Amino acid sequence: MNGVREKIYDVIIVGAGPAGLTAAIYARRAAKSVLVLEGRACGGQIVNTPDIENFPTQAHISGFEFAQKLFEQTVSLGAEIVYERAIGAEGGAEITVITKNARYPGRTLIIASGSADRKLGLENEEELIGRGVSYCATCDGNFFRNKPVAVVGGGNTALDDALYLSGIASKVFLIHRRDSFRGAEATVRSLKSRDNVEFVLNSVVTSLIADKRLTAVEIADREGQKRILAVNGLFVAVGRVPENGAFSDLVELDKAGYAIAGEDCRTKTPGVFVAGDCRTKELRQLVTAASDGAVAANAAVKYLSGQT
Ligand code: NAP
Repeated sequence: MNGVREKIYDVIIVGAGPAGLTAAIYARRAAKSVLVLEGRACGGQIVNTPDIENFPTQAHISGFEFAQKLFEQTVSLGAEIVYERAIGAEGGAEITVITKNARYPGRTLIIASGSADRKLGLENEEELIGRGVSYCATCDGNFFRNKPVAVVGGGNTALDDALYLSGIASKVFLIHRRDSFRGAEATVRSLKSRDNVEFVLNSVVTSLIADKRLTAVEIADREGQKRILAVNGLFVAVGRVPENGAFSDLVELDKAGYAIAGEDCRTKTPGVFVAGDCRTKELRQLVTAASDGAVAANAAVKYLSGQT
């Protein structure tokens, strides 16, 4: 249909995660009209975090509760949230954000589109999602109570997932392609102290074995030696990929697909800013995403007032 909406928003924000919603709060407090477009649910990936311990003032808060509070704060300040996925954007005197249903005109755009789970790329991986293959241990872990599972990856997500699952599953195989971990040494030590965790290092998953649901995974080590692990669940935690493809005409992307921008969140296109995990940055955390949201909104407000 792609009907053009009449209202021209001061600030259109793509993505309702911590970066996007913080940007909305700052822009609303500067009395700008704000539209947030979100293709899934508000909160972004933080919703799946069981316990946030590193956000200032919050010694312990669940990601779900954090996201809910952020959503309520944003809506109470008058930001409009529309649940449509941005599939493209056009620049010019005005910026137009395109969804399947409509074209939304705006004076500025803040891209806070975050990132999506990286897939292993195995043949039947997609069709086994929800039938043994998962990308979220805290969402799906309970389905595997007293059953054997595997986690793939060597970063903090994989380590945290393996630790979480070791309290639920009968056995956890932690499969990693190298013999040292990117994630925290303290978590590795905790995992080593668990009787039901087995480290499977220098190995990759080569195929998923299923009879309607996953029943086992085939792994191969560096010498090509294969082994079958009987598991009911496979938790894939091999990082994330930025969701910036729709904006490649307006912003420069690096080789990995992150939007190139510095700490000022500005892009090559005047009036277009980028915030949170989808931009090139050193530390992708809740607090840095929120910080980006504030910086990007401030830059958009300045741009609207003619200051650069
Ligand atoms: P990550 O740090 O990028 O780690 C991804 C892991 O997956 C790496 O060990 C990588 O192996 C492996 N990998 C990548 N592609 C693979 C493939 N095709 N097949 C097999 N293995 C593959 O991602 P993350 O763990 O999701 O963490 C993302 C960011 O969030 C990090 O900065 C992390 O510290 C942060 N985080 C923090 C916490 C916390 O503070 N508790 C919790 C979760 C995440 P190599 O090591 O060999 O490259």
